Amino acid sequence: MKLHSHFAGLGTTFSSPVQPQPLDNPELVSSNPVIADLLGCGSFSQEQLTRLCNGESLGDQSPVAMVYAGHQFGSWVPRLGDGRAMLLGEVQGTDGKLYDLHLKGAGLTPYSRNGDGRAVLRSTIREYLCSEAMHALGIPTTRPLCLINSSTPVYREKTETGAAMIRVAESHVRFGTFEYFSYSQQYDALQTLADYVIARHFPDWTDDADRVEKLLAQAIQSTAEMIAHWQAAGWCHGVMNTDNMSILGHTIDYGPFGFLDGFDAAHICNHSDWQGRYAFSRQPHIGHWNCTALAQALLPILPGGKEKAEQLLEDYPDHFAKKYSQLIRRKFGLEDGAEGDSALIDEIFTLMQKERTDYPLFFRRLSEGQAEDLFIDRESFQSWYKQYQQRLQQEGRDEATVRESMLAANPAYVLRNHLLQIAIDKAESGDYSEVNRLLEAIQQPFTEREEFADYLQLPPDWAEHLEISCSS
Ligand code: AMP
Ligand code: MG
Ligand code: MG
Repeated sequence: MKLHSHFAGLGTTFSSPVQPQPLDNPELVSSNPVIADLLGCGSFSQEQLTRLCNGESLGDQSPVAMVYAGHQFGSWVPRLGDGRAMLLGEVQGTDGKLYDLHLKGAGLTPYSRNGDGRAVLRSTIREYLCSEAMHALGIPTTRPLCLINSSTPVYREKTETGAAMIRVAESHVRFGTFEYFSYSQQYDALQTLADYVIARHFPDWTDDADRVEKLLAQAIQSTAEMIAHWQAAGWCHGVMNTDNMSILGHTIDYGPFGFLDGFDAAHICNHSDWQGRYAFSRQPHIGHWNCTALAQALLPILPGGKEKAEQLLEDYPDHFAKKYSQLIRRKFGLEDGAEGDSALIDEIFTLMQKERTDYPLFFRRLSEGQAEDLFIDRESFQSWYKQYQQRLQQEGRDEATVRESMLAANPAYVLRNHLLQIAIDKAESGDYSEVNRLLEAIQQPFTEREEFADYLQLPPDWAEHLEISCSS
């Protein structure tokens, strides 16, 4: 596995050289063979992966912490940066793409502010498993390579153990990276950053006079589409600050996220988000807000200026609506859009909201033609179901084909908070088997297997009271 230093090569305006501070007695919790193969380290032993994840076998490679800023819960923070993560370098994948290798939890950096530079086991397991679950659902995301635990104490509300993980991403450039250079009036660096992203991800645009406009248009579209995926999957990010928004529209920085159990449009998954800024139903709007912040940051290097930016931002709602309706129709087994589809879908969502019907189970059971039992108000469900059947018949596809397409769009295995919690509790007592069992299930979420029957159950009552917050 050869590590390159492309981003580090941009110089110390963009990042600071750092040294990982290894954890004590590291042990491998889990590794992801799919990503290991992708990066050409599929033959690494457990020990080699452990050392890599502990920042111990980098040779003369110098990691860097990237600088960025961001709007956190709507408030401007002029300097954030990688406070507990570092970019080890870039690796060419077997698919020909270049991937950032990012180590999280490896100690202090110049951007650690009041933090300790560490990550605890529970939050690392959450990111490790959820990023892979999202990928398996077809949602653009960072992905995990490996995860270690250690005996190093880390102090949160209680004493926990330090953990670290390596994730890969096509980019770790955030909306907040552009905001940092824009608001500190480093416009040459702002252009250099844009050109770096363009050269790496959109090389065809390199010589175009309107390349920054293209980059902004692309970011607006891919962000809108990513959030359409989140909404259709019933997934809440929890901390949609602009420093957690990837320029490529990939899901990044998993914190207090959550998949919906009982359907609630107003669901807030982040216990620290007391105003509900990042509530489930607000995510599409917040995505637009964040794109506006990105556009604002790009103004000094955007030839068309404010007018151009406004024009591009107007496309956001259409990009979102187009993708969302395509994804949600698939979940209902509908191939083409027809008039009345939104009303039909709204009607069942209204009933689900009223009854807090389990979101994943509803779609899985609907695919099997067995959703009725999930409802208390059978009459309302029946009345809706009749219209829905008529709508399906209008498309003229045979039942088996519709069922098959729905089973491929509605996962059986969803990484619900309580499943994560069970795996975390076990891991904290030294048993990592449940982390790995869950990984196996969520990597093929549409294929039911007998050994994972327990993952199909409705969540227990205690799941409702799980509190997940930012500090981890
Ligand atoms: P997040 O909410 O995880 O996206 O983090 C927001 C900012 O806080 C980023 O700049 C992180 O690098 C930084 N941060 C979060 N946790 C820690 C920590 N334990 N030590 C140092 N910096 C941290
Ligand atoms: Mg972050
Ligand atoms: Mg984070």
